[in-house]
Amino acid sequence: MQDPKVSGSPNTSLQEFDLIFFGGTGDLAMRKLLPALYNRFRDSQHTQGWRIIGVARQDMSRDDYLNLVNEHCRQFIPHGEFDAVAWTAFTAHLEYLKLDGLLADDYAELARRLQHSTDRVRVFYLSTAASLFAQICQNLSAAGLVTPQTRVVLEKPLGRDRASSFEINEAVGKIFEERQIFRIDHYLGKETVQNLIALRFGNSIFEPLWRRSNIQDVQITIAETVGVEGRGEYYDRYGALRDMVQNHLLQLLCILAMEPPSSIDPDAVRDEKLKVLRALKPITMDAIKTKTVRGQYRAGAIDGKAVPGYLNEDGIPADSSTETFVAIKAELENWRWSGVPFYLRTGKRMQERVAEIVINFRPVPHAILPVSASEGNRLVIRLQPDEEVMLYLMVKVPGAEMKVRPVDLNLDFKQEFKTRQWDAYERLLMDAILGKLTLFMRRDELDAAWRWIDPIRDGWDALGEPPKGYAAGTWGPTAASTLITRDGFTWREDGYQ
Ligand code: NAP
Repeated sequence: MQDPKVSGSPNTSLQEFDLIFFGGTGDLAMRKLLPALYNRFRDSQHTQGWRIIGVARQDMSRDDYLNLVNEHCRQFIPHGEFDAVAWTAFTAHLEYLKLDGLLADDYAELARRLQHSTDRVRVFYLSTAASLFAQICQNLSAAGLVTPQTRVVLEKPLGRDRASSFEINEAVGKIFEERQIFRIDHYLGKETVQNLIALRFGNSIFEPLWRRSNIQDVQITIAETVGVEGRGEYYDRYGALRDMVQNHLLQLLCILAMEPPSSIDPDAVRDEKLKVLRALKPITMDAIKTKTVRGQYRAGAIDGKAVPGYLNEDGIPADSSTETFVAIKAELENWRWSGVPFYLRTGKRMQERVAEIVINFRPVPHAILPVSASEGNRLVIRLQPDEEVMLYLMVKVPGAEMKVRPVDLNLDFKQEFKTRQWDAYERLLMDAILGKLTLFMRRDELDAAWRWIDPIRDGWDALGEPPKGYAAGTWGPTAASTLITRDGFTWREDGYQ
């Protein structure tokens, strides 16, 4: 079944495993998890001795479940990647179990199904609301289902603040050892994020430049064009700070800013990431207005199509003050990064769908060529819409005059490797089955992230101002531009592309 056109690098073959999805009928399972497993199966990474059990409260037969998967999941497998034979062989490994995660009695049937595979790797993937995690773990333990080979994968967001995150981690930690807990942040599974690690630690030319003396500012943007997409009730409880900044943006910041770890071992990497989180300068009340901006989208247009404002979306209270946009000026208090601003920005209903890290290098110390202040060396690591890395260098424009302008050296992965890029969930699911923790968050990392986030939330509450409005289809409130122009810089979309 191996197809050289679509397979990735040589696969690490897996041990036999049982993967149990709590939330097996949910959006994430259908859109991401099952397609990811299908892709790995099609690439022959797991061939035999494995099964997937979808778990949810809905009463239905295995056939009904397979129909549901066929109906909802297949559409998320791109046409060129769908292989009917592989799909049929894949779905033969799927089972369904009606089980309410909160009811201890419901676990007897799960125990019966797993009783003959106690030696196998067992992964419980909790793709439900985080408020269920503690009880599900307790019930798994009470039913005798936690073997030494068992792992639990926890979906984000893990709590709404430091206290609730502590509570969940404490409860899960009573049942599972830290080596068994896989806290997922799918941004870490993206190929480009690993390329950032490769770029930093596989090349000697960047390390001498990777510091305050050479880097002027860093921008990390995750912009979405979509709104709340039917998840209004969930979103309104969380908002952009908790949903995006606390996890994805801070994790990208960590990978970018961490010291070189002594090895790629999970704890070596996570120790360094933790140091970054602990070096984040707290944003105190007096800096809330100058270092943070929160916004909420109003009606506008995306790709020429009119879209409603946030307050008119389904499930959103008319007086909601939940932010759909955040921009923050973050600073690290350590030798490498002191004085370098890290501008973080994320929003819904923005002008373009883009996720990228922009590293702006300092201008030359003495300009003998006519270079404008906004031009210079820049490294752009793009995660969305395509994964690419661009290094901008100043070159001469052909012609009589000595005119220079930035031109990018584009590392085009698709062209170079001619291979389908793995989805983040493919890698992370395989890593969970293989027991590789490097790309998952450790408990102390999560705690350190919340410790920095909570005062921002508290500051906004104390300020009592509503989020600033911005029209859908723009780059956010004007205050977000002021946040950065005040320091003499501009967001990348305002400078050269
Ligand atoms: P969803 O579409 O609402 O699905 C929830 C799933 O959990 C359903 O299968 C539901 O089925 C099941 N469920 C609810 N209560 C249960 C219980 N007591 N026992 C057993 N199963 C139960 O949610 P989702 O969007 O898939 O999200 C799942 C998790 O992933 C959440 O933590 C979310 O924050 C996270 N996440 C989602 C996305 C995404 O794009 N969807 C992205 C990142 C993270 P029944 O109602 O039939 O029980």
